[in-house]
Amino acid sequence: MIRFEHVAKCYPDGTIAVDDLSFEVGDGELVTLVGPSGCGKTTTMKMVNRLIEPTSGRILLDGRDIAETDPVKLRRRIGYVIQQVGLFPHKTVLDNTATVPVLLGRSRAAARRRAAELLELVGLDPRTFGHRYPDQLSGGQRQRVGVARALAADPPVLLMDEPFGAVDPVVREHLQNEFLRLQSEMRKTVLFVTHDIEEAVRLGDRIAVYGEGRIEQLDSPARLLGAPATPYVAEFVGADRGLKRLSVTPIGRADLVEPPVVSLDDPLEAAAARLRAADARWAVVLDDADGLHGWVGADALAAGTTAAAARHGTVRDHARRMDAWLPLGASLKQAFATMLQYDAGWIAVLDGDRFAGVLTPTALHEALRRSIASDDGDGAGVRLETVAGA
Ligand code: ADP
Ligand code: MG
Repeated sequence: MIRFEHVAKCYPDGTIAVDDLSFEVGDGELVTLVGPSGCGKTTTMKMVNRLIEPTSGRILLDGRDIAETDPVKLRRRIGYVIQQVGLFPHKTVLDNTATVPVLLGRSRAAARRRAAELLELVGLDPRTFGHRYPDQLSGGQRQRVGVARALAADPPVLLMDEPFGAVDPVVREHLQNEFLRLQSEMRKTVLFVTHDIEEAVRLGDRIAVYGEGRIEQLDSPARLLGAPATPYVAEFVGADRGLKRLSVTPIGRADLVEPPVVSLDDPLEAAAARLRAADARWAVVLDDADGLHGWVGADALAAGTTAAAARHGTVRDHARRMDAWLPLGASLKQAFATMLQYDAGWIAVLDGDRFAGVLTPTALHEALRRSIASDDGDGAGVRLETVAGA
């Protein structure tokens, strides 16, 4: 657990970078620090691994004042990931990842084995990437190596300073997803700096919104978006926080609607009858393993049953593939984006490999409304019109 007690940092030139900072990051908690450039985020971070010493106040790690801990020993317990990554250009990806364990006295073979596991964990196949050099990687891949390297010594604490800041938005969202998945398994204690409020809200168990050198609000994503504590925070999280809310609300089973479902091998007549009975214009088509194949329209089925030659056909002859799908637990924002991308009136939601139901725009709106209503009553401040009008 990391605890800041009245921490201030004044640089020799008189700049007060942070002032009277007091907060805690619990074990296994991910706190994001977000705010405009120059508000003191990096300074806060670097005081934790003693790259910078506070002018006053103290920082405790697991109850011990870090000022009394040897910096080298301290840093062994703290992984550090920065935007420029700082990989060694002359070392392979595998050796870059193994750097810290080797420094800590592990055998090179053991360190490399561990490095290969970690590369796998961050989504880089060690057989493909292990022997490359950093300049043979994309920006996103380099960031993954940076994360793998920070994890190599299995530190309980991670400091991440705008780690995904230099990659394009699509890669960035990938990295964020992967990191969330990793974090749900590892449960490290993480301080994560970003200047992007969306990223902060997406990743943080709690978010600290920085004004100049101080925290204006430290709260859960839902409360930050639902009840900004000050006009500054309201301004910073933006007038469109109803929309941002989309990105922190997961698709749940209760949000799904259940259209008629037919199988690829169902006879046309039976499938057409099922759609007529449900008065539906289309049905979801599943493959043999109850996985999603796509959809079939009532018109296509009806036409199929009247064409004499196709009377004995199956749904397979008329089914269309459907690529617009998401896993349960994906955000409503992803659902919205997917609908737009595929120009789809609905998207399929899968639970693992199995079809769970579909999300429609109406269901999406309902889910958002419910999410806001359940938010301690404070969410009333979020205006749904913002979303409906989007
Ligand atoms: P952020 O990471 O939020 O962009 P920083 O913590 O890097 O902000 O910087 C906070 C403030 O401290 C800024 O005004 C910056 O110019 C100043 N600052 C940072 N490092 C130094 C330094 N070594 N000497 C003097 N001022 C500094
Ligand atoms: Mg910074």
